[in-house]
Amino acid sequence: MIDDNTDPERWEPVSIAALPRLKRAAETARAVLRAALDLALPHLCAVCREPVEGEGLCPACWSKLSFISRPYCERLGIPFVYDPGPGILSMEAIADPPAYQRARAAVRFDDISRALVHALKYGDRLDLAPMMGRWLSQAGRELLAEADALVPVPLHWRRHWARRFNQSAILAAAVSKASGVPIAARALKRVKFTAQQVGLSRTQRAANIQGAFRVPRDGKAEVVGRRLILVDDVLTSGATVEGCAKALLRAGARNVDVLVFARVAEAGRTSI
Ligand SMILES: [Zn+2]
Repeated sequence: MIDDNTDPERWEPVSIAALPRLKRAAETARAVLRAALDLALPHLCAVCREPVEGEGLCPACWSKLSFISRPYCERLGIPFVYDPGPGILSMEAIADPPAYQRARAAVRFDDISRALVHALKYGDRLDLAPMMGRWLSQAGRELLAEADALVPVPLHWRRHWARRFNQSAILAAAVSKASGVPIAARALKRVKFTAQQVGLSRTQRAANIQGAFRVPRDGKAEVVGRRLILVDDVLTSGATVEGCAKALLRAGARNVDVLVFARVAEAGRTSI
């Protein structure tokens, strides 16, 4: 049988302007095919690639994850190596208090959690989101009990376009499903295309993110007087969530907390 599509005579001329659209359509088709295959094939562990039953992490890799639990700084959520007693803040929280009220993370950022985040972000492993969302909900239980809405850290539309989805929005949707707290999808916009934060110093990161986030006019109603939780995949220097929290508070949010999947966590030093 002759496949008509291989006959050059039948190829439609394609304008250069249509190429990005075609590329995107092909990527979407690939993602749909991949999702269909995922239903038929056993999952692979997102970290070690061994076949795994159920969700996308094998028991061996799961046991290597470093979940964060108390004692930690009540403000920043940085784990303490010993228990200094209830309500004690870290030196970092006292010396340089953030705009947001409290931050919580499910796990420490290490090789295992990095592999999970990368699989979700770049590997089309959206099947990991419900599991990661449950861990986030667990870590943020106290925050979620008092919150009006979740605000995913937005991507600039150019990066969103290139990556097809926002991993923070995927995680926020999973947290929303697990906790029942709704998402404020219009609350925050990334208005500045920022360079990747990787490789920048703490000061450079803060400068890079300056003016990057804004509450748009049609997002005000989702922000004013409300208790919000910013959701992101990884917290490194905190510059991104700090920029977001400042924009939300300036627009009239009553309180802003932060919930991330993984955080870089040197052991916190207590103030005593
Ligand atoms: Zn594994």
